[in-house]
Amino acid sequence: MEAVGLAGGEKAAVSKVYKPKVFASLVTEVVKPGKCVGCGACVAACPPGVVRFKEVAGRDEEPILAGKCLLCEFCYYQCPQTGAPDERELEALIFGRNSSEKEPFGIFMKAYSVRAAREEILKVASDGGAVTAILAYALSEGILQAAAVTGVRKDAPWKPEPKLALTVEDLIEAAGTKYSVAPVALAISEAVDCYNFDRLGFVGTPCQVRAVRKMQYGAHGAIKYGSRVKLIIGLFCSENFYYDRLIKEFVASKIDPSKVTKFSIRAGRFTAEAAGEKVIEVKIKEVKPYARSNCEFCTDFAANLADISVGNVDSPEGWSTVIVRTEAGLKFFEGALEKGWIEAKPLEIKPDGVLVKLASKKREQAKTG
Ligand SMILES: Cc1cc2nc3c(=O)[nH]c(=O)nc-3n(C[C@H](O)[C@H](O)[C@H](O)COP(=O)(O)OP(=O)(O)OC[C@H]3O[C@@H](n4cnc5c(N)ncnc54)[C@H](O)[C@@H]3O)c2cc1C
Ligand code: SF4
Ligand code: SF4
Ligand code: SF4
Repeated sequence: MEAVGLAGGEKAAVSKVYKPKVFASLVTEVVKPGKCVGCGACVAACPPGVVRFKEVAGRDEEPILAGKCLLCEFCYYQCPQTGAPDERELEALIFGRNSSEKEPFGIFMKAYSVRAAREEILKVASDGGAVTAILAYALSEGILQAAAVTGVRKDAPWKPEPKLALTVEDLIEAAGTKYSVAPVALAISEAVDCYNFDRLGFVGTPCQVRAVRKMQYGAHGAIKYGSRVKLIIGLFCSENFYYDRLIKEFVASKIDPSKVTKFSIRAGRFTAEAAGEKVIEVKIKEVKPYARSNCEFCTDFAANLADISVGNVDSPEGWSTVIVRTEAGLKFFEGALEKGWIEAKPLEIKPDGVLVKLASKKREQAKTG
């Protein structure tokens, strides 16, 4: 900024004028460098509602400014990619300390292999249905009023969309892993702005979990939304993919995606099933070219900031690995167990196990800058 007609000291003072971190800062620091995770926190939190998603060919949706910005900085400070607070600061705020080198997948209380006790959940779940069963327990007991989850669009096979699950049936409809992104933070704003709910569950990848933790713990957090979320379930995550590339290009070149009933990544292989048969089975490196650019920067495999983290590594096929991290998470887990929604076996965490290896590798290999 040119400070016309001012003396030297005054010029210096003017040049230090605070530059607000507004939507343009998000574009410069996050969207343009390919770090946007598509979580929707900026869209959800913008008070005048002027941040929208726009489809960008080959890169799915990205946020754009579609109206007059009030310079309030809310979008910037909910974004999981801007720091302030960053992962380490959030961890200290949530757990009262930071994880050490000996805790590569974060701070936790207990670990289990878990399976839903109900067949209707197991049939549609990605692994053991732990995520759906724990939330189903909480909804059916009235402990939570709704859960922000990821469903699929009716007009585009396997295209994820944010979904506010109000019933166990809604949860079952949203079970199973989709290997691309929905702006799931929008389901939180729907729950608060449309229903005025104040007891919500949330399910998301580690980056999406970080957005919600920023709403809860950030000095500029969208507390109106964050404070309503009482249970955060994070999914283990090596990487995610662009829908346009993985589904519309790669999968569609082999089978009509609407025929696929399940996708999974397990033991280093990406598979798709249709009518009970494996129709695609390739090594992960074959689908790497379709991965999202933001995932190269990611250090969090096991959703270290969640109340409960869930994945499949180190558990037998058909079971979920469940890492209980917080007192809140423990309450939900024990309630689901007590009410017969899940069965659980204690899981021994081995230093040479897959969870430890993948979490350590992700920390070491993430791109910086
Ligand atoms: C992109 C991605 C990559 C993953 N990579 C790994 C991995 O490398 N290793 C590993 O052990 N586990 C990984 N997982 C987790 C694994 O696929 C299962 O989600 C997890 O084991 C829970 O299984 P479940 O049967 O308990 O869940 P279910 O009961 O089937 O419930 C799954 C829940 O996940 C939500 N969900 C589905 N897709 C998405 C999505 N794209 N984004 C946000 N939420 C979603 C649904 O809304 C549902 O609530 C990954 C998940 C995702 C989304
Ligand atoms: S009004 Fe606030 S939240 Fe919306 S774009 Fe501007 S700075 Fe971001
Ligand atoms: S808040 Fe989420 S959607 Fe918005 S810029 Fe950041 S990562 Fe992208
Ligand atoms: S790898 Fe990291 S950035 Fe990519 S989807 Fe998973 S948690 Fe988000």
